[in-house]
Amino acid sequence: MHETVAVVGAGTMGAGIAQVAALAGHPVVVLDAAPGAADRAIAGIRDQVTKLVARGKIDADPDALDLTAAGSLEALAPARIVIEAIVEDLAAKRSLFTDLERVVAPGCVLASNTSSLSPTAIAAGAARPERILGLHFFNPVPRMRLVEVIAGSDTAPEVADQAADLVTGWGKTVVRAAPTPGFIVNRVARPFYAEAWRLLAEQAAPPETIDAVLTGAGGFPMGPFALMDLIGHDVNEAVTRSVWTAFGHDPRFEPSRAQRDLVEAGRLGRKTGRGTYHHGPDSRPAVAAAVPPRPAPPKAIDHSATDLRALIARTGAPIVDGYHDTGTIELPSGSVLVRSTGVSATELAGRHGVPVIVVDRALDDATATAIAIASSDGCPADALHEATGLLQAAGLAVHVIDDAPGLIVTRTVAMLVNLAADALYQGVADAADIDTAMRLGANHPLGPLTWGDRWGADTVHTILTNLQHGYGDPRYRPSPLLRRRALSGGRFA
Ligand code: NAD
Repeated sequence: MHETVAVVGAGTMGAGIAQVAALAGHPVVVLDAAPGAADRAIAGIRDQVTKLVARGKIDADPDALDLTAAGSLEALAPARIVIEAIVEDLAAKRSLFTDLERVVAPGCVLASNTSSLSPTAIAAGAARPERILGLHFFNPVPRMRLVEVIAGSDTAPEVADQAADLVTGWGKTVVRAAPTPGFIVNRVARPFYAEAWRLLAEQAAPPETIDAVLTGAGGFPMGPFALMDLIGHDVNEAVTRSVWTAFGHDPRFEPSRAQRDLVEAGRLGRKTGRGTYHHGPDSRPAVAAAVPPRPAPPKAIDHSATDLRALIARTGAPIVDGYHDTGTIELPSGSVLVRSTGVSATELAGRHGVPVIVVDRALDDATATAIAIASSDGCPADALHEATGLLQAAGLAVHVIDDAPGLIVTRTVAMLVNLAADALYQGVADAADIDTAMRLGANHPLGPLTWGDRWGADTVHTILTNLQHGYGDPRYRPSPLLRRRALSGGRFA
C-alpha cells in the first residue's frame, strides 16, 4: 500500500511532481491557492498520461490514477510527505510550512522544490525543522531524471534518506547537495550560457554559430541560445541573477546586459514567439553559415602538435614529422595551426613569428562534426583557406570566428570544469554527484569533472590562467582545487 503524497502548488512543477507520484502508485492530494487550479492540474495530468499511453511511452490507466484536489490544508492530514512547489518566495514558503505543521502527522516529511532558497532558511521558525528538506526536481518533471536532495543544517539524516528512497522508487536519480546557492546544477551550469553571451557581446560570432559549434564540436544536445529560448529568458536570467547576488556579485556569475534587454523587451523565447531567434509559424530556423569548401593543402608538417593529432588524422592528408617542438601544424604557406589554450591567435602570432590559426577544442576529436577556428590579425587569406581546407578534409563544418581567446568550446568547458571544481572544493557535493547532476539535470554530454580529467587539470588551468591574464578579469580565476590538481597531476573523478 503506497503512502499518500501531498503536493502544494499545482503549477508547472507541482503538476509534474503529482503526475510522477501518481504514476508510481501513490494516492496524491493536490492543493493550490488559486481557485480551480488543482482541478485543472489534475485534468492536465490525465490528458498527459492519456497521450503518453497512446504513444506507447507508458502503460497506465489515466482514470485509475488516485488524484484528488484538496479544498483546504486539512485535506493534507493523511500525507506521509508534502512536496511544496508554490511561488519562489521565502516568506510564503515559511508561512506554508508553519501552517502545514499544524495539520500533518508528526512523522510527515516536508519538502520544498525551491530552486534558490536554502532549506535551512525555509525551516527557520518551524517546530520540527529536522523533517524539512529541499527536493529539487527539474522541468519537465516526468522527463527529467534528476532530483537534488538538499538537507538543511537541521534536517535529520534519516529524513533525507527517506525522501531520496521515495523518489528513487519513482525512477528518479538522486544526488545530494549542500544548501548553497544554486545547489549543483543551477550553479555549475552558468558558464554554458554566460560564455555564449560574452562571445556575443564581443562580436566574436553570431548566436547560430555559437550554437552550431557547441553542438557540433562540444557535443551538447542544444546550443545555449536555442536552450535559453526554450527555457525562457526571464526564467534563465532570474536564476543567473539570483546565483550572482547570492555569491556577492562574483564576476563568474555576472548576468548579461543583452539578456536583460531581451527580458525587458518581452522577447522571452519560444513562449512569446521571439527570443534570440524568431519562433513564429513562418520563421525558418537560423542556420550557421560554415565556410564553403576549400581544397586541402598538399601536405602539412607536425611539429609535436600532440593535441591536434586526432583531429588531423581524420583528414587523410599527408602529414610529415617536423623538427620543432612548438606544438604546431605547419601549413605550406608557413602559417601554423595551434590548439586553443585560451590565448588569442594574434598573441600567438607574435610568439611564433608567423600567422597563426587557433583551433577550438571538442568533446571528441574522433566524432566532432564542426569546429571553430580564428586567425591572427593580418593573417593572409590563403593561410586561412589552407587551414579551412585541411579541417574540412576531416569532415568538419568549419566556422571562422573573430579572434576571441579560448574560442567557444574551450572557454565554455574550461569554465564548467572550474565551477565544478569549486563546488567540489567547497563541499557542495561529491565528484560523482556533480557529474551525474550535470548530465541528467542539464543534459551535458559529459560530467564536467570527467571532462576536466580528460583534458587534464593542467590544461584546463592553463586555459583559465590565460583567459584571466588576457582579459584582466577575475571571472576566469582558477579554483584553488583545480590549481592543486594541475600541480599534483591528480584527477577529480
Ligand atoms: P508556477 O507559477 O507554475 O506554479 C506555482 C503555483 O503555486 C501556482 O499555481 C500558484 O497558484 C500556487 N501558489 C502560490 N502560492 C501558493 C500558496 N501559498 N499556497 C498554495 N498554492 C500557491 O511555478 P513553478 O514554475 O511550478 O515553480 C514552483 C516552484 O518550483 C518554485 O519554488 C520554483 O522556484 C521551483 N522550480 C521551478 C522550476 C521551473 O523550471 N519552473 C524548476 C525547479 C524548481
